[in-house]
Amino acid sequence: MIKYALSCSGDHEFEAWFPSSSAYDEQVERGLVECPVCGCTNIRKQIMAPMVRDSGTKSGKLKMPKSDSLPTPDEIEKVASKVREHIGKTHDYVGDKFADEARAMHYGDQEKRAVWGETSAEEAKSLADEGVTTVPLPEPFVPPVPAPKDTKKLN
Ligand SMILES: [Zn+2]
Repeated sequence: MIKYALSCSGDHEFEAWFPSSSAYDEQVERGLVECPVCGCTNIRKQIMAPMVRDSGTKSGKLKMPKSDSLPTPDEIEKVASKVREHIGKTHDYVGDKFADEARAMHYGDQEKRAVWGETSAEEAKSLADEGVTTVPLPEPFVPPVPAPKDTKKLN
């Protein structure tokens, strides 16, 4: 059984159980799933996003723009590559000094600038505890230069 969070064309939100995702598709297709509030059968799955720390929203549930279809992997990849390009052009790469740099800027020891680099999950967490916002970058982000340690090669 799968429980889906659903909403209707009237924006009523409810939950329903289905034997499988294909059963969900079929039942919605055939108009067998009704909104318990208004009875309409124009049902879609709610799009869920991870909890975000935002003092402005109590629920923590991020509402995505209403759209009939989710972006395809191609579209996501396009956006991701634009983001990577933008970060590469506008942000300084600071490598494993990221946590130090972010902290120094946070405490005003250093002028604020846009940086990206590597840090451990523990560092990211302690940064967050100190109120330093960090954003994990999408998977394909890689440092633009090989690590300087790699000088062992003979000839
Ligand atoms: Zn409804």
